Parts: sequence; C-alpha cells; structure tokens
Amino acid sequence: MQGFDLATPTTVDEAVALLAREGSLAIAGGTDLLPNIKHELFEPRTVVALGGIEELRGIELESDGTLSIGATTTLAHVAAHDEVRCRATALAQAASLVAGPQLRTMGTLGGNVLLDTRCQWYNQSYFWRQSLGFCLKKDGSVCHVIESGSKCVAAASNDTAAPLLTLDAELEFASNTGRRRLPIAELYKSDGVANLRKEPGELLVRVRIPALETGRERLGAYGKLRERGSIDFPLLGVAVRLDVVDDRIVHAALGAIALQARPLALQKAAAALIDAPASGPGFDDAVLACAAAAARQLHPVANVPGDAQWRKEMAPVYVRETVRAARAGTGPVHGR
Ligand SMILES: Cc1cc2nc3c(=O)[nH]c(=O)nc-3n(C[C@H](O)[C@H](O)[C@H](O)COP(=O)(O)OP(=O)(O)OC[C@H]3O[C@@H](n4cnc5c(N)ncnc54)[C@H](O)[C@@H]3O)c2cc1C
Ligand code: SF4
Repeated sequence: MQGFDLATPTTVDEAVALLAREGSLAIAGGTDLLPNIKHELFEPRTVVALGGIEELRGIELESDGTLSIGATTTLAHVAAHDEVRCRATALAQAASLVAGPQLRTMGTLGGNVLLDTRCQWYNQSYFWRQSLGFCLKKDGSVCHVIESGSKCVAAASNDTAAPLLTLDAELEFASNTGRRRLPIAELYKSDGVANLRKEPGELLVRVRIPALETGRERLGAYGKLRERGSIDFPLLGVAVRLDVVDDRIVHAALGAIALQARPLALQKAAAALIDAPASGPGFDDAVLACAAAAARQLHPVANVPGDAQWRKEMAPVYVRETVRAARAGTGPVHGR
C-alpha cells in the first residue's frame, strides 16, 4: 500500500483544518477507505483519523424528538440502539445487514453515507484494472458496463442511504468556512465518478432524522438482495416507510439502492400506497400496485455483480415483501 501521513485530531476544528489541505482524506472505520487505497483507487497524502473526536460520536434524542446520530457512530451501535429501532426501523435493519459483524463493529454511519460508488470493473486491484485498460472512473476513458457510454454508472451501494432517504434525514457538514445542513435527498447525484454534492474538505458531523408527526405510527423495513446471507454488498436494496393513522396509510416513502450512482426515491410506487388501508384486501391490492410501479422504474445494469435480469425480476418481489414486512413488523427481508 502506498504510504501516507496520519493525522489524529481531537476536535472538529482541527479536523477541518487538516482536511482543507490538498490530498487529505478522512478515515472513520477505514473498512472502505483502506481497500480503496490498496487498490490504488484513492491516493491520499494525508489520512485524517476521526476516531478521537468526541463530537462525532453517539446517538441522542433531541428535545423536539429529532434523532441525532454522530457520523462516527458504528453501524453495530446504530443497528442495536432502541430509539433507532423504534423511530427509524428501516435504518436499524439496513445497518444490521451491512457486510458482517467485524465490519459493522469498525464501519460507521458517516462512512456508509459517504461510501464511494461501486462497480465490478472498478473495485479491483491496479493490475486487474490495467489489464482491461482501466475505465472512466479511474485512470481510463471507456466504460465496461455501457459500451460506448460517456458517463460512469457505478452504483451507490451504501445500505443506509435508502432508509435515510425515506426518513427525510438531514446531514450536518463542517468545513474551514463554517457549517451547513443538507437534506440527504440533495446529497447524491447521478455521476458514478463522484456522486456526492460535498466539497473535498467537508466533514460529516451528524445525521438527523426528524421527529414523527403527533398521532402517527411510523412503520419501516429494509430488504436486501444478495447472493450470500452475510458480507455481500447489496445487489438491490429497498427501504420502506409507512406512516399510519387509524389503519390508513397517510404517508409512504420507498428508496432503492445498488442500481444507479444515486439512491432512488420510488415516488410512483409510494403513491400507490398513500391513502390505502393499512390492512385487509385494500392493503394487499395497494402493495401489488406499488410493486408493479417500482418494477417499471427499476432497471439494473451490469455495474455490480449478479445477473442484471435476475436483479430486475427480483425488484418487484423485494418491494412487495419489504412493504409487507414493514406492515407486519417482520423485517428485514434478505437472502436469495
Ligand atoms: C467485505 C466488505 C463487505 C462490505 N459490505 C458492505 C455492505 O453490504 N453494505 C455497505 O453499505 N457497505 C459495505 N461495505 C463497505 C463498508 O464496510 C461500509 O460501507 C462502512 O459503513 C464504511 O464505513 P467506514 O467508517 O469504514 O468508512 P471509511 O472506509 O472510513 O470511509 C469511507 C469514505 O467516507 C469518507 N468519510 C468517512 N467518514 C467521514 C466523515 N465523517 N466526514 C467526511 N468523510 C468521511 C472517507 O474519506 C471515505 O471516502 C463492505 C466492506 C467490505 C470490506
Ligand atoms: S460504470 Fe463504467 S466507468 Fe463506471 S466504474 Fe464501472 S466500468 Fe468504470
């Protein structure tokens, strides 16, 4: 692995001053950053370790009911936390399905939100990539997924992005010019080379999930298609949020990942659920209409491993089963 300097700040101010220097990159759990450095995909001069910064850690319930999660809170902690499981069920379930236990113990929510896009032609060693003549995302000028394509379509593969999208999460960033808040829906763009609307020197401080409106019950679930029962990145991820009042769905949101460079909001699929009964034949009909609408929007390509046609056929199945699991409280949905 290429060498780098390691900086160990203890405050946000120190960290953003270090990150403002050219060639600096933040490291949280390092579970994605270090493989990427080994593969010569990232070539930092300085790596800024975030583990010593108290402000970035922990989960709090703010006085107005907002759930505030520090960027370096581990995925294992997010998955197991009672308030997250209750108020953001799909997020807890998604965190519980990332990689395997060791990686969830090191990997953080912030690192997951800001994960680089993935592609089976990109997440490979230098030697492997060189043998193909590289590609648009790093060192080359062609795309191996969309032949003659001029745009990289590497996939957003971060499990927690889909539930955070459905939960209208807000992100707090710090930089050497101050702080800003950004709705997660505005973070991602459809450019696989660089899919984040984030300046290189910005540090993610916290992720906030707004409180639920009074009188509503919030249900949620996450569904993850993968070939093995553990370790694998998603071949498709589906997050569902249902807000229910008096057995009627008053608000629904669905998010999907591992398709394109940004997580997708499935608005037409969600619309099929809004105002539907939350049980009985009316619910069953709405779920089938939701799954059919999602199938029309989801078009997997050969960016991540797994047959694209199989992923397409599984999309309505995962949407249907994840909505049902949200209602029944039986999520997550995963496996083949
Ligand atoms: C075998 C294997 C399987 C995996 N499976 C999955 C999977 O199923 N699903 C999944 O989503 N991920 C998976 N991952 C990827 C990774 O483990 C997780 O996404 C994890 O959450 C990354 O968090 P981290 O803290 O380790 O991030 P790091 O590797 O430390 O950082 C990731 C990126 O975020 C940046 N960053 C981190 N924190 C901040 C911050 N606070 N502010 C600014 N920038 C920051 C880093 O500079 C880097 O670019 C897998 C990894 C491996 C090795
Ligand atoms: S989608 Fe194309 S350009 Fe992007 S990483 Fe994959 S092969 Fe490279």
